[in-house]
Amino acid sequence: MSKKSNMDKCSFCGREKKEVDLLIAGIDGHICERCAEQAHSIIQEEVKKDDSFDLNAVKLLKPREIKAFVDQYVIGQDQAKKILAVSVYNHYKRLTQRIDDDETEIEKSNIILVGETGTGKTLLARTIAKMLHVPFTIVDATILTEAGYVGEDIESLLTRLLQAADYNVDAAQRGIVFIDEIDKIARKGDNPSITRDVSGEGVQQGLLKLLEGAIVNVPPQGGRKHPEQKLIPLDTKDILFICGGAFDGIERKIANRLNTKVIGYSAAKNSDRIERENMLQYISPQDLKSFGLIPEIIGRLPVLTYLDPLDKKTLRNILTEPKNSIIKQYKKLFKIDGITLDFEEATFEFIVDKAIEYKLGARGLRSICESIMNDAMFDSPSEKIDNLYVSLEYAEGKLNRSNIQRLKAS
Ligand code: ADP
Repeated sequence: MSKKSNMDKCSFCGREKKEVDLLIAGIDGHICERCAEQAHSIIQEEVKKDDSFDLNAVKLLKPREIKAFVDQYVIGQDQAKKILAVSVYNHYKRLTQRIDDDETEIEKSNIILVGETGTGKTLLARTIAKMLHVPFTIVDATILTEAGYVGEDIESLLTRLLQAADYNVDAAQRGIVFIDEIDKIARKGDNPSITRDVSGEGVQQGLLKLLEGAIVNVPPQGGRKHPEQKLIPLDTKDILFICGGAFDGIERKIANRLNTKVIGYSAAKNSDRIERENMLQYISPQDLKSFGLIPEIIGRLPVLTYLDPLDKKTLRNILTEPKNSIIKQYKKLFKIDGITLDFEEATFEFIVDKAIEYKLGARGLRSICESIMNDAMFDSPSEKIDNLYVSLEYAEGKLNRSNIQRLKAS
């Protein structure tokens, strides 16, 4: 065989140039398009195997270690952290232990977090996903509707998870879905309605099988815009669902329930005392039912916990303590320009007081900081300075000049 004819063959399958559509030349050989494609799919398979191995080896940190990790990012909320740590630990233990097959099946422990908006529910879920290196997605329950109605199909939340997992089905099947504003799909009123409740109960019904575990055909592109797409079956039994909601007004239901149990004058006085504290700590599945979640949903979210409202001290710590706190981020931004940024302690107190005054919560801390820091961020890169000190006076001046009303409204 001449050297020339050898050169015109695929070095992998031996097909000749005329038998293939494309022959790609290398230094010492050729590859045809079919072999290239096959090689690609072998690589994909191997990568997938590696991924699932990684996930199985899932950093099975112990609950205390999980909490210690979360502590780096989330301030306070100790009760929620402990409960989350235990249920995440159990969930992943359940995944890795399945092979034992000793008949005792550990049930899935989906979680429901109740707490005012901006108290860290999403942050908690996100931090846990970061720690576990699993795909994570946040879906707002209010965009979901029953099939056939305007809005997104319930399966779309799995589409997002699949996208977050780069379409690696294995990884997606072990991911975490955070369903926000679960309280907004409560049915209106305690009694099951005769007429269909499009926005609420239907969606709750639709969520049931996902929460429990089922094989769901997921449109990879999502939505109803691509009816031609091939559906991907996804098993939800190992997906951890964390639901969050503010459940505005649930305190009253908790109070009512607690009050009905107390008899006599002194006991009533005692319950008054309870009412003034953080009522959410007494939350029970019954209260979720009174609020309008259907019992089947509550049953599939067996882990219930609450978040504390953020007090002054917590807000103050949120500014500087988390690993990627707002203030640390500003310092880093300025450092890149060679500027050392420092703050007067009173500035922090001032920022926190304003966040409380405008009822902005933790989310407001950033907008207040932005108003204070914006001019400095605009000017200092062009100025030859190597440090900037944000005194209380400076902060007050900047904030007063900025449009405070705008902050209040946001
Ligand atoms: P929620 O989901 O409860 O409405 P988020 O988790 O989205 O609230 O919190 C909004 C922002 O406020 C977060 O991105 C974070 O910067 C900050 N934040 C809220 N609570 C905490 C907390 N306990 N520790 C640290 N940061 C917090």
